[in-house]
Amino acid sequence: MKGDLDSEETETAFGVLFQYATAGILVVDQNGEIVLINPCAEELFGYRRGELPGRSLETLIRSDLRYTHGAQREPYFRSPNARPMGKELDLYAQKKDGTVFPVEISLSYYELRGRRLAVAFITDITERKRAETESKRLNEELEQRVMERTLELTAALEREKELSEMKSRFVSMASHEFRTPLSAILSSTSLIEQYQKNGQPEKQKKHVDRIKSSVKNLTDILNDFLSLDKLEHGKVEVDNQDFNLEEFTMDVIEEINYLLKEGQRVNYHHHGEKQICQDRRILKNIFLNLLSNAVKYSDAHKEITLDISVHHETVNARVKDQGIGIPEAEQKNIFGKFFRAKNVTNIQGTGLGLNIVKRYVELIGGSVAFDSKVGEGTTFYVEFPRDMF
Ligand code: ADP
Repeated sequence: MKGDLDSEETETAFGVLFQYATAGILVVDQNGEIVLINPCAEELFGYRRGELPGRSLETLIRSDLRYTHGAQREPYFRSPNARPMGKELDLYAQKKDGTVFPVEISLSYYELRGRRLAVAFITDITERKRAETESKRLNEELEQRVMERTLELTAALEREKELSEMKSRFVSMASHEFRTPLSAILSSTSLIEQYQKNGQPEKQKKHVDRIKSSVKNLTDILNDFLSLDKLEHGKVEVDNQDFNLEEFTMDVIEEINYLLKEGQRVNYHHHGEKQICQDRRILKNIFLNLLSNAVKYSDAHKEITLDISVHHETVNARVKDQGIGIPEAEQKNIFGKFFRAKNVTNIQGTGLGLNIVKRYVELIGGSVAFDSKVGEGTTFYVEFPRDMF
């Protein structure tokens, strides 16, 4: 206060301050009786001028908190101190019409003629609270969005990683697997040249067949990769047709005849009805993979049997060989991508066939399982619906 005001002017200035303050000011005695209240506070609580002095402070406190508040007043007046209230608390006041609203209150006290009085400065913080709630909501929304985006990115990264792993595996597998058929093609072509000069047509034919089989081998590897890529990206569509399963299977067996080693043969037994409604292309892939594995992983003169039983609703196929078998410890991995058991030694393969078989079988609503014993042989069991619809 400036020193050139006299005491009357100072008093008026204080009165003006009290009257026109934009914060609510309330003076309460130690019995909780409102002694003074400024217009801003009256307006805040929705009372008329002069209505509140003489009434209990508890009138202004949220009804369910009145009792606790009253109990806290006595200790406060015993050892009062100036403090902002409710720093960490949500304080709620109540208007005359019962509306509850959040407030921030700072307290101080003074003594007048032996009477202890508490002064409360009250601010309505409804707006601030609303802004806080809104900002909390926005923050949570943002966090949620960040989380979703992170998940998307992680998934994309994972896909990218898988793709790049797949590519590098393809490169290493191709450089290994392509070498044998390519060198077979190369040596056969130069031998054909020689046999042509010497006039040995039978030997020429043998090497032409060898070239054909090597080219088929290369195509199969590429097809496996393409099928896998399509399967993994859900791009394979099932196309059902009615057909004779026995005739179809005989054609498939015919296709793998060129792979048979000396004395090997596929004994096929068909049981039950012959007509089924399935995807021919998918079934062919499944049978070709299982049969060519049976041939590949068996020695010459070993028998392979294919049993097919058509039941009312399902078809069961069993491919049994007397080959090298799958070591027990590795059996759990056998359907994994690129997996090859340790006992395959120098038998060629990509480790993709069974993974593709499993995916195809599941795509047509079936299941695949196997039994195997090292040195004795392996049996694969496939079950699938006779009619997809
Ligand atoms: P690939 O034959 O090209 O290696 P597959 O996915 O068809 O790939 O087979 C995965 C692995 O399972 C093979 O490498 C082999 O270890 C084992 N396997 C599959 N079929 C047989 C079978 N009939 N007899 C023995 N082992 C087999």
